[in-house]
Amino acid sequence: MDEIKLETPLEKIKGIGPKFLVKLKHFNIATVKDLLWHFPNRYEDFSNIFKIVDLQINQHATVRGEIQSIKMRRTWKRKMFIIEALISDDTGSIRAIWFNQKFLIMMLKKGKMVNLAGKVAEAPKGGLIMNHPIHEIITSSKENGDLRHTGRVVPIYPETKGITSKGIRYLLKPLLDKIGKIEESLPEEILKKYGVLGIDKAIKLVHFPEKIDDAILAKKRFAFEDLFFLSLANIRQRIKLDKEKAYSSDFELDDIKELLAKLPFELTFSQKKSLWEILQDIKKSHPMNRLLQGDVGSGKTIVAVLTALVLAKDGKQSAFMAPTEVLARQHFETFKKFFADFDKGAGLMTGSMAKVFYGDGLENDFKKNDLTKKVGNNEIKIVFGTHALIQKYVKFSDLALVIIDEQHRFGVRQRAELFKNHGAKEMLPHLLSMSATPIPRTLTLAVFGDLDLSIIDELPKNRKAIITKIVDPKNRDKAYAFIRGQVKKGRQVFVICPRIEPTSESQEIENQNTTESIKKSFFHNWDNVKMVKEEYEKLSKKVFPDLRVLMLHGKMKAKEKNETMTRFNNRETDILVSTSVIEVGVDVPNATIMMIEDADKFGLAQLYQFRGRVGRGEHQSFCFLLTESSSKITHERLKSLIDAKNGFELAEKDLAIRGPGEFLGTSAGWAQTGVPDMAMKAIKNPTLVKDSRKAAEELLSNDSELERYPIVRKRLESFQEEIHLE
Ligand code: ADP
Ligand code: MG
Repeated sequence: MDEIKLETPLEKIKGIGPKFLVKLKHFNIATVKDLLWHFPNRYEDFSNIFKIVDLQINQHATVRGEIQSIKMRRTWKRKMFIIEALISDDTGSIRAIWFNQKFLIMMLKKGKMVNLAGKVAEAPKGGLIMNHPIHEIITSSKENGDLRHTGRVVPIYPETKGITSKGIRYLLKPLLDKIGKIEESLPEEILKKYGVLGIDKAIKLVHFPEKIDDAILAKKRFAFEDLFFLSLANIRQRIKLDKEKAYSSDFELDDIKELLAKLPFELTFSQKKSLWEILQDIKKSHPMNRLLQGDVGSGKTIVAVLTALVLAKDGKQSAFMAPTEVLARQHFETFKKFFADFDKGAGLMTGSMAKVFYGDGLENDFKKNDLTKKVGNNEIKIVFGTHALIQKYVKFSDLALVIIDEQHRFGVRQRAELFKNHGAKEMLPHLLSMSATPIPRTLTLAVFGDLDLSIIDELPKNRKAIITKIVDPKNRDKAYAFIRGQVKKGRQVFVICPRIEPTSESQEIENQNTTESIKKSFFHNWDNVKMVKEEYEKLSKKVFPDLRVLMLHGKMKAKEKNETMTRFNNRETDILVSTSVIEVGVDVPNATIMMIEDADKFGLAQLYQFRGRVGRGEHQSFCFLLTESSSKITHERLKSLIDAKNGFELAEKDLAIRGPGEFLGTSAGWAQTGVPDMAMKAIKNPTLVKDSRKAAEELLSNDSELERYPIVRKRLESFQEEIHLE
């Protein structure tokens, strides 16, 4: 066989069976590179080989000994095969037990030398035992340190069906020994300056570290690499945008004052500051690219609308895109309320609606075609809408500003370029995106490094704080009585549950290293989790048979979901039992109680978002967090929801506890950030984020086209393709 290269398909490698190849393909592992880049998610330190006499209960250890006996039996009740072996060294003996691994009886013959690595426990009949240990047969060559599975720091790979960590280790070890030099994509001077491992060393150590610290260093390298290329991509994007032209407004301060005077409230300090930052941007002749962040209810919409109004005065158009019809409509309504005399034309365009407003107190229903025409000849200056706004047939006449609400809901970052028909000739529209998800700073820097940031970090003054309580399930009846009282007063209630119905995850989990007991406790926990369907049955039939209870979850059809939401909006429902699907934008000011079952199963950011659905009206609102858990950590985590001053503080905590993948994925509902996994994990580490950013800035400041760094350039191009930044 030729030399092994990264691109070599695994079929060409001797010793990989066809069945295993198929399994690997399932996980997109087809080449040597794919396999080498399939990193362990953790390590077990079995580096010391212990004498059996020295073993302690609960210790994780490797022992080496001779197999004295091995036999298989079958449990009748559960139809399981149990293999039991006795291993001894010159100091004592230990039992080992495996479930459903019939093949072991063929491999582990009496008299063979083996290493066993695992957790030491006390056997029911007395003596020591290892449940489901990792084994490695010792041949003479392995005595000199060529171990893969035991007697060393052992890599554990992500749980993947049918592919065991052992199988991967088996394949990897010889590959790593034979692989030639791997191309280094990071410049030498950067490796040196930031103490980052070279690729050859890193790839070896990430799989087979001598000590855990080696593995940490190796993983750091890959994280640095991803963050570095992410930064390069962001900065280059930025440079590119700065070369583009955009409309520059020369508004007067008096224009702004005049607009502000129309509002029934005064802007908060943060709103003013953000508006000011945005207005400075639209004075420039380069496109703005700004993210406006602010808690739910902090008043982002008005800031964006004011910007659109400033441009409308110059005769320029703005498009305001929201993720749902409900939200688009809500923005349009708010606009009409505050700027009832706006006579330059405002429109609403969604899949099912087209409306026009000319400040004469009338809202005209329109055919979509006619609205499109008016947008096309600049008779409409501000148009609110959904994705309908970026359809091919929507051609703007002179679009100067694109506003994207809840921008993370649009998946891959859709930019102003999406509005290809902006009509502004040689120019690009300014872009203002908005997000209610508080994102910690490090994350913002890494993920949205090409954006400028404005933050609204206070709520309008008149808001009543929501009373949040952790409720012991013992007091559930009291909570129900309180709910009844609120409903009697005409208020409405949300009840959130983590799951829809029981699932069969038990079939999905399959890992040789998971012992039966872990499996059992895992499912035990989840079986107790509150399920929407059950909870709905209980509340509607037993607890509140006299009240109007409805259910909402992700498996319902869109039409059913809409109807349910509409009925709740129209106060035709008292209690809505829901999973986490309830919309970000849902705005029912009459709802005053948010009751969250199994609150500990949600991330803090998500709990925070749930709570934000109440406290939007004049009435005092409440949030009840129920948990069966008695763990101190859980209670402290939930308590931070009561203590945190704002969403940002909470997001930082959540990020620290759960890690960015979880944070962005489930809590915040980000569709796609395009950030590689490795980088995601590393975002917890602010120094790494800053260093990689700095390294990218330095490199580009010397050589903005990367002419002296062809490898970096090549890698950047493929990286950009992978993450769809362009
Ligand atoms: P979000 O930032 O979540 O998009 P909105 O823009 O929908 O929040 O604002 C929430 C509500 O607060 C709206 O009814 C809006 O009119 C109102 N609002 C905005 N700014 C202020 C303010 N400075 N004072 C009082 N109410 C405000
Ligand atoms: Mg909003």
